[in-house]
Amino acid sequence: MSILLKGGTVVSAKARRQVDVRIDGEKIVEMGTNLTAAGSTVEDVSGYFLLPGFIDAHTHLELNNGKGSMGTADNFYTGSKAAVAKGTTTVIDMATPSKGSSLQDCLKAWDHLAQGNSSCDYTYHMSIIEWNPSIKAEIKEMIDVGITSFKMYMAYDNLRTKDAEIFEAMREIRKYQAMLGVHCENGDMVNEMIAQFVAEGKLSPHYHPLTRPDSVEAEAVERYLMIADLAGLPVNIVHLSTKRSLEAVKRARACNQKVYVETCPQYLVLDDHLYDGPGFEGAKYVCSPPLRRICDQDALWDGVINGQVNTISTDHCSFNFNEQKTIGKNDFSKIPNGMPGVETRPELIYTYGVTTGKISLERMIGLLSEDIAKQFALYPQKGIIQVDSDADIVIWDPNTAGVISATTQLQNVDYTPYDGMQTKGHARSVYLRGQKVVEHGQVIAERQGKFIFRKISKTH
Ligand SMILES: [Zn+2]
Repeated sequence: MSILLKGGTVVSAKARRQVDVRIDGEKIVEMGTNLTAAGSTVEDVSGYFLLPGFIDAHTHLELNNGKGSMGTADNFYTGSKAAVAKGTTTVIDMATPSKGSSLQDCLKAWDHLAQGNSSCDYTYHMSIIEWNPSIKAEIKEMIDVGITSFKMYMAYDNLRTKDAEIFEAMREIRKYQAMLGVHCENGDMVNEMIAQFVAEGKLSPHYHPLTRPDSVEAEAVERYLMIADLAGLPVNIVHLSTKRSLEAVKRARACNQKVYVETCPQYLVLDDHLYDGPGFEGAKYVCSPPLRRICDQDALWDGVINGQVNTISTDHCSFNFNEQKTIGKNDFSKIPNGMPGVETRPELIYTYGVTTGKISLERMIGLLSEDIAKQFALYPQKGIIQVDSDADIVIWDPNTAGVISATTQLQNVDYTPYDGMQTKGHARSVYLRGQKVVEHGQVIAERQGKFIFRKISKTH
């Protein structure tokens, strides 16, 4: 049974136009003005925007790295449902192996988490947390099974690798023109500063951002880009959060390096005064990189506006305030790092970016969907409303107002960093591969997501 979406305004990263859209099965099959019903079920969407389903290229929907560590508050089921309810139809989750396990085993583990549980489509970035001949051999194996992007870390002792290992991994990844994203912070410096504050008895959340100042990130960004230049690999910087890092990116680009920059809503709409909230409230905002100063926020917005920032994803990684964040009550360095956000990204960027006049709706589509799809080999299956693309369509109502609240959110976590923030616009309904999965803001069909096989030839 085909569906005709009639009278809406279709928006891409380049333009908007009033055009009818016919969906048949999982695909968009026809677009044009004044299309006739021709047997299709007609849905009147006049007055609404038709946006390509949003893609979140940085989530940790479900993380539980074994013995002694703590699992995230969300799992694939709750996180993906919260995502799709607000218009995110695809996530690229961070598949993270434990030390000693193969990438294949990690892939199986992530498939086990996602399969049959996800309410949006999904794929993964495969994390490389150690480097040896068998991991090296698995790079191609991953690409052969549709995993075309990788993640590495320069901080976190259980995840980071040496510069030489990053360099070797880059050279292997380059053979296949796959994508690498790196968490850029100087792990040694972070460890030193944590040890110093702890020794001095400075243990409240106030000290978290002071252990990871902008120079910690900017140094790592600069080093990462130099290594990438030596390896000849275009690279992605995940969750870039400071002005100084952006300046390092500008320098690299001035030398003709291809660099992709991701930032996250928390660095655009929140700032570091929140670490000084009453009691232990600051723990809610403990994530790495930490929230930054207003001057960094301004520089990031400038980057979003002028194209220096390519994409906005969330780094969703949820831990409850009670029972989980409170583990670090007497020592900020024990607070689990991460914040929820997969649910709130579209409304936040629409409200604080589009309705304030900072960016156009077209630019928002690039940042949240089209450019992500292009960067990560999902385009044109995802990221655009056009014939033959997947019918992942958000019917966006621009004329609503709301307030973000922990009590009404779908994310399975006991707080939201955006609590009380006002929003405008929302996903009225959402189609996932032709199936209506959200109606009047409510998820009406869950667990309909599937794994998306990516091929590198699809990108550039
Ligand atoms: Zn992350």
